[in-house]
Amino acid sequence: MSLAESVLVVCSMCRRRCGCGLQLTPLYLLLLALLLLLLLSAHTQPGSGRHIPRGSRQHGQFPPQHSALELIPSDSFSEDQFIAATARAARPRSRRRVYRLLRAARRTQDPREGSKPVQLKPAPPESQLERQGLEKRGFNEVVSERISLHRRPPEVRHPLCLQQEYSQNLPTASIIICFHNEAWSTLLRTVNSVMDTAPKKFLKEIILVDDLSDQGHLKAALSEYISKLDGVKLIRSNKRLGVIGGRMLGAARAIGDVLIFMDSHCECHNGWLEPLLDRIANDRTRIVSPVIDVIDWKTFQYYHSVDLQRGVFNWNLDFHWEPIPEYEQKWRKSPTSPIQSPVVSGGVLGINRNYFQNIGAYDPAMVMWGTENVELSLRVWLCGGSLEVVPCSRVGHVYRNHLYSLPDEEIVVKNKIRVAEVWLDSFKEIFYMRDTPAYLLRKTEVPDCMERMQLRKRLSCKNFHWFLTNVYPELSMPEDKSRHSGVARQRFLHFEYNSFKEIQFGAIVKFCIDVTNEQIILQNCHIGNKMESEQQWDMQKSGEIIHVSTGKCIEAIKNGTSKDLFLRPCNKYTTQQLWRLETVTVMNKR
Ligand code: UDP
Ligand code: MN
Repeated sequence: MSLAESVLVVCSMCRRRCGCGLQLTPLYLLLLALLLLLLLSAHTQPGSGRHIPRGSRQHGQFPPQHSALELIPSDSFSEDQFIAATARAARPRSRRRVYRLLRAARRTQDPREGSKPVQLKPAPPESQLERQGLEKRGFNEVVSERISLHRRPPEVRHPLCLQQEYSQNLPTASIIICFHNEAWSTLLRTVNSVMDTAPKKFLKEIILVDDLSDQGHLKAALSEYISKLDGVKLIRSNKRLGVIGGRMLGAARAIGDVLIFMDSHCECHNGWLEPLLDRIANDRTRIVSPVIDVIDWKTFQYYHSVDLQRGVFNWNLDFHWEPIPEYEQKWRKSPTSPIQSPVVSGGVLGINRNYFQNIGAYDPAMVMWGTENVELSLRVWLCGGSLEVVPCSRVGHVYRNHLYSLPDEEIVVKNKIRVAEVWLDSFKEIFYMRDTPAYLLRKTEVPDCMERMQLRKRLSCKNFHWFLTNVYPELSMPEDKSRHSGVARQRFLHFEYNSFKEIQFGAIVKFCIDVTNEQIILQNCHIGNKMESEQQWDMQKSGEIIHVSTGKCIEAIKNGTSKDLFLRPCNKYTTQQLWRLETVTVMNKR
């Protein structure tokens, strides 16, 4: 049987066996959960980091060109069996738990990297009350309560920023602060800091959107406090909208020329608003972001970032900050010049109100929270606008710690799928290869993106290849200095075959294909530091995967009713050793 024929056999058998392709059966989910748990639990150190999906500061440069490999078994060996074979050691946990672990694994970057502390208050000892606050809020509410509702961050702008002069006729701003169960102190410090810093003539209004909070302090007490503030409106939603819907509700009521969306735990610097308005006044298709500094979730110390950064995303569509590339550095005339940014963070951004509505606001089918900033950013770039970080504008944001549990991660995955389907064109395949939960969900639920596709057409938006060529040429596969970087996927799992000849599994934490007693298992990667590693493999064009140290091939072998993977002498007459490798090439940019 030829390789092509054998692939066909696999597909037809699978369809018959599962009825509807590889669906999310409970067993299948459990197996996936087990595997992910195995991968994540070994690497997740409790309390080691922070969760910052919309504002993390990960760093890394990627090579401009790569190819990806798709790995599909050549015969009746199926992927759930593979999971069973590799996940043996794991204990069963719920799917939610797996998502939580996924989140925990993303928290490994310290957002203060490249930041300088500004000591405002000594860190108090941690009490039980504080720990409770952490779980409820994701930050130390006890400390926050001890800090003035009117504290002002110290001056950290570049001296040239202080010499900038702005027109007296800048557009006016509506500040939209959407919140769900925000702490009293952080919410009101946000409101007060806007009022204390934004010049009255440019501040049209502050619109607070209460996204169905149920905590007592946000009821009558808040209404009363707000009623005494000039120009602050409070809208209460009677259903949970999430940050996406809440901001759109606020935007629909706003009357200022410019909308500033702001999280409900921010602190503004002096002079933060004018530079943003100035950029939009000169071009209403510019979306602007301040430099977003870090307010420590534990101590509420203010850390200002020293290096200039821009917002980007990876193939999982997760947002992060990275230092600006050299060409951008050269292009900028002055330390006060704005920085072109592929993505803006979700925490604070400014946009002309009419332009926001004209380009389609937020995607109303994206729910609750997450990836809305990536979607807006892609849409703006592709449909004629631009995005920038304005260095003379600074706002601090409380990045939550990991104890805080987010809205269901599955929602974020659904949002990502919409972004991929609407904006990524054929490049969405790379996203699905890298994001296993998204790949699985997409198999069972096909989102209706018709309206957004029509919007894309109506606005004559460019394609994603243009974005990769002109806006974010650095987006590539996450392996530095690779000679043969790639992704191998066994239908829904993806692997990376790297320059050390390792086959790695896992989008966030990496495990490597290894061997024990001739059985194929997943192990911690040796990360290429052992030259005679058991984890090195040769991928043959003909379809075999050869273990470098023994010269044997990976073979799927029947074990009762299922099949496991073993090392066996290579045998070109068996299809059980053949794996289909497909190359997905991403064009070189620039
Ligand atoms: N938020 C909301 N409804 C929700 C979830 C979040 O109104 O269902 C608000 C939240 O209070 C905050 C903003 O949306 O003002 C962004 O959420 P969060 O700060 O949790 O996101 P992060 O900064 O951690 O990315
Ligand atoms: Mn936030």
